[in-house]
Amino acid sequence: MSTCFSTGLPHATELMLQCCSKCQQINYPTRELCGNCLADALQWQPVDNTGTVQSVAQLHYSLEAEYADHLPWTVANIKLDCGPVVLAHLQPDIVSGSRVTLTIAQDQASNRMLIATGDDSELASAWLKAVNFGEITT
Ligand SMILES: [Zn+2]
Repeated sequence: MSTCFSTGLPHATELMLQCCSKCQQINYPTRELCGNCLADALQWQPVDNTGTVQSVAQLHYSLEAEYADHLPWTVANIKLDCGPVVLAHLQPDIVSGSRVTLTIAQDQASNRMLIATGDDSELASAWLKAVNFGEITT
């Protein structure tokens, strides 16, 4: 399955990660062998897209004009309930320890990325609209 350079994930509308068919460990980032048992038996599968914010960093400068209007920009490490830790763009005003949902979106330049949003879907939708991130539909 082909993957996207910016996320290392398959071109899909849902979160898919490599699952080991021998030990069932879910692996991320993308790798050739299972990080737990070294088996060459990794299969892309849809996974639970919920997790907890572990750490947060704010970027105060961007070379990309479309991001510069929304600084400081927040990125976070998210501990997925299914195991791995991923780096994602985080909805503003969400703090470490918060529960989030991960989805795949794309910016104006069609760069695909992981985004983490909180429980309030209206706030999440308002942020995605404000930063002009689009939902992946294909
Ligand atoms: Zn394994």
